[in-house]
Amino acid sequence: MTHQEQPVETPPRAPSPEHRFATLAVHAGAPHDPVTGAVIEPLSLSTTFEQTAVGKPVGQYEYSRSSNPNRDNFEKAVAALEHARYALAFSSGSAATATILQSLASGSHVVSVSDVYGGTHRYFTKVAAAHGVHVTFSPSIELDVEELIRPGVTKLVWIESPSNPTLSLVDIRAVANIAHAHGILVVVDNTFLSPYIQNPLDHGADIVVHSVTKYINGHSDVVMGCAAFNSADLYSRLSFLQNAIGAVPSAFDAWLAHRGLKTLHLRAREASTNATVVATTLRASPHVLAVNYPGLPSHPQHRIALKQHRGGMGGGMLSFRLRGGKRAAERFCQFTRVFTLAESLGGVESLVEVPSSMTHAGIPREAREAAGVFDDLVRVSCGVEDAEDLREDVLQALEKAVAETVGKAEQNGEVMNGE
Ligand SMILES: *Cc1c(COP(=O)(O)O)cnc(C)c1O
Repeated sequence: MTHQEQPVETPPRAPSPEHRFATLAVHAGAPHDPVTGAVIEPLSLSTTFEQTAVGKPVGQYEYSRSSNPNRDNFEKAVAALEHARYALAFSSGSAATATILQSLASGSHVVSVSDVYGGTHRYFTKVAAAHGVHVTFSPSIELDVEELIRPGVTKLVWIESPSNPTLSLVDIRAVANIAHAHGILVVVDNTFLSPYIQNPLDHGADIVVHSVTKYINGHSDVVMGCAAFNSADLYSRLSFLQNAIGAVPSAFDAWLAHRGLKTLHLRAREASTNATVVATTLRASPHVLAVNYPGLPSHPQHRIALKQHRGGMGGGMLSFRLRGGKRAAERFCQFTRVFTLAESLGGVESLVEVPSSMTHAGIPREAREAAGVFDDLVRVSCGVEDAEDLREDVLQALEKAVAETVGKAEQNGEVMNGE
């Protein structure tokens, strides 16, 4: 029998919410306690729930891995912000990714953008293969997806937009149209922008995933993940695996992440404003070779940002290359005083790091450089401090890092071109 490709049926969309983003962020999944009137939901630490007769629990809960009140409330809030009918929370962003990949039958094929998050790349190449799922990476997925699809075998297309750490964008609608014609689901990792700036389901994606660790929690004190979608079929498959695999967050983490989510719109807006100031400052500096920031009109895919991002905002993440090579990049990160040298992103505090030696050190040089990740690339996560302090900080760190490294090279008679 030959395989019949079924175009993806569009599941019913989530009902149009009565309220707007900020109101939903504050109120979705946040009922007042019916007994005490507490405005903030109590933390429900119980792992088990009483049954009045066998198989007759008092309320809707039985055992906390399967579901618990704090996780349920957090999931409702995420679903509301991502315009989804369903959301599921996981113990990390990586656990959300793993659970989605685990839902594919052995022998399935996945097409993914090349510059995915390092941990996603590791899962795709080192773990998924062990259960018979194979991934093909594409550096230009809008152009290649059609020819990379193996009819009947490809089940998923994986997109990250913006990509990490080079901040290139993917036209989600363009890829989804092709994938859907072949019966293939599209996943978008929306961690870098957060649901405030981009809602991938509105652009045709079938599943949106987040590392909640980043913007949604936003305070660098919880590791958590989530996935949101509209299809009831996906809900039954993925919630089954959420319980069966058990990579679930604790009630306390769900409570903390829900508290963080309530101010997402304020934080994401401020981070985006700050990143615009920092990107503009860097672009004007003679010490900087290139700036990757989707909010700048000079970004090669700025038109996608205008179409896909709320108000054309660029988000809080950017990266840049500076004169003086790897050493200057490393020194820059040590000379900043407001920005902290650390991995991760999306918190209230600003961070800097050097991807080639830190987050992306595991990728072989050739593949890394093909994706634009050179030794002199610095990745910046803008927090919510004062823009002027961030601007002064990058200027003083650039001055010191480049003077030191380029000055030293000139003394040694070397030519520095930043490569
Ligand atoms: C951090 C991150 C992940 C993984 O999330 P964890 O919570 O660290 O497991 C996935 N995707 C992106 C884009 C990330 O930044």
